[in-house]
Amino acid sequence: MSLLLATSFDAPELALWQTELERHLGPERWCVWHPDLGAAEREAVEIAIVANPPPGSLQGLPRLRLIQSLWAGVDRLLRDPALPTGVPLARMVDPAMNEAMAETALWAVLSLQRGYFDYAEQQREARWLRHGQRRADAFRVLVLGLGEMGRTVAGRLVRNGYRVAGWSRRPAALPGVACYAGPEGLEQALAEAEVVVNLLPLTPATEGLFNARTFTRMREGSSLVNLARGSHVVEADLLVALEEGRLHRAVLDVFAREPLPADSLLWSHPRVTVLPHVAAQTDPVTAARIAAANVRALRAGQALSHLVDAARGY
Ligand code: NAP
Repeated sequence: MSLLLATSFDAPELALWQTELERHLGPERWCVWHPDLGAAEREAVEIAIVANPPPGSLQGLPRLRLIQSLWAGVDRLLRDPALPTGVPLARMVDPAMNEAMAETALWAVLSLQRGYFDYAEQQREARWLRHGQRRADAFRVLVLGLGEMGRTVAGRLVRNGYRVAGWSRRPAALPGVACYAGPEGLEQALAEAEVVVNLLPLTPATEGLFNARTFTRMREGSSLVNLARGSHVVEADLLVALEEGRLHRAVLDVFAREPLPADSLLWSHPRVTVLPHVAAQTDPVTAARIAAANVRALRAGQALSHLVDAARGY
């Protein structure tokens, strides 16, 4: 039985993943997806290891027993109408990735609290201007999504002294975090936060969450840090909110279209910081061990970890 690799990786990246996975699994029979995969190759595939697989690439694999994503977010996979139903889908949950996300969130929140993005803007204009200094314990940050990433981010922000609130679908309890749930909870939490950090999965319920209406619910002069998915934000509405001064800044790692088109107004907006989807990258060294553990669990008939609930969308 072979392991299928269906990814958007180039040859060196594929080789690296194969090496790292074999470090934990031993030698494997590999099958790298291509459009003309033969019937015998398809028959032999037991497990698909995927990262942005071409749509439809997981069709016609009669012995497929597990789809293991190397990415944390599975929205693209779940949107593929040809995704086999009834085959367990596991996503990447890697503590190293959660920590990387916490670093990015902390950098963004700290820069917003202390005005470092404003000072960078002033430097471009050779403008010497001091702003008041804000204390972390008086600075309110709201983390949307209290899953693997959101919880780690909220914890890091608490340890750095911020006043942290969090929002999730079901009620949660986290040390030092004011937890909100459901639509009413969101209204209240948004009204108070000076920075909103988005770490929600992209689902039908969260797509376009940051729209003109939501921006009016956010505290005047607050900032948005979007580290989750571009389609959470209606970019035209965000630009209006920034222009009206309702929002102070946006720090964006993800976009509705990636790479962000060269003519996007977001590139040059003075109060937008653009990152090229690097808030938390999958590290083959740590992630291969986690993916391999699920492969071994499947083969040993043990419980699988980090399974996605397709009906819920995450
Ligand atoms: P997760 O563990 O599945 O957590 C999702 C959280 O969002 C949970 O707390 C969940 O609430 C909450 N949620 C889901 N739908 C909701 C809704 N309709 N209303 C309120 N709360 C809702 O996900 P994760 O591992 O933390 O990852 C989050 C996202 O980060 C991924 O889906 C991916 O898109 C993004 N990501 C980005 C990068 C990057 O580099 N930019 C890297 C990795 C991941 P419950 O707790 O109640 O279920």
